[in-house]
Amino acid sequence: MRFLSLILLLSFSFFKSQKCYDLKTVLKVEPTELYKPHLLASQSFNVNILENTKSVDKYIAKGKFVKVKKKSRGYRLQALEYSRPYLVKKARTTLERMANQFATNTKSFFVVSSVTRTLEDQCRLRKVNSNASLGISSHNYGAAFDISYVRFDHQLKVNPKLEKELGKLLEQYKNLGKIFYIKEKQQSCYHVTVRNY
Ligand SMILES: [Zn+2]
Repeated sequence: MRFLSLILLLSFSFFKSQKCYDLKTVLKVEPTELYKPHLLASQSFNVNILENTKSVDKYIAKGKFVKVKKKSRGYRLQALEYSRPYLVKKARTTLERMANQFATNTKSFFVVSSVTRTLEDQCRLRKVNSNASLGISSHNYGAAFDISYVRFDHQLKVNPKLEKELGKLLEQYKNLGKIFYIKEKQQSCYHVTVRNY
């Protein structure tokens, strides 16, 4: 009997160590005031928090998530290591329209550096980037993407002119009620959450 409980205990801790997050704890982390509107917006698309590949596949199969193209007029998608190239339809359309307008205004393109992340992806990311959020993020619902402001036209450098143009575009879309955005200095990107407009 004692042996059996030991086996149970061992398999339990093994099972526990397989999961790198605890959903209850993750959901309990209070978002900052600045971030709250992002979360509420991302949660308005009727997508449950994405835990793993299976959850993403489910929404792809339902047609709720659509693939983000590697390139389109005005943007290029960076090779993604910790996120997946899928978004809810409205988020993809918004990205493409913003990029298209950026190309018209500047004859340049911006680079999308991150798209949709599951909680498992987020754990892997946290191992390399301790700044990665402990709690939930709008990336966990398929409604957010990051735009780098140091990689315009695939050139790793500061470009004040293009950065200003991107800033203007983001502000315009925000004022139209289509997005929320935050400048993330540590990652040199704009975090963009698409609203269910
Ligand atoms: Zn982000």
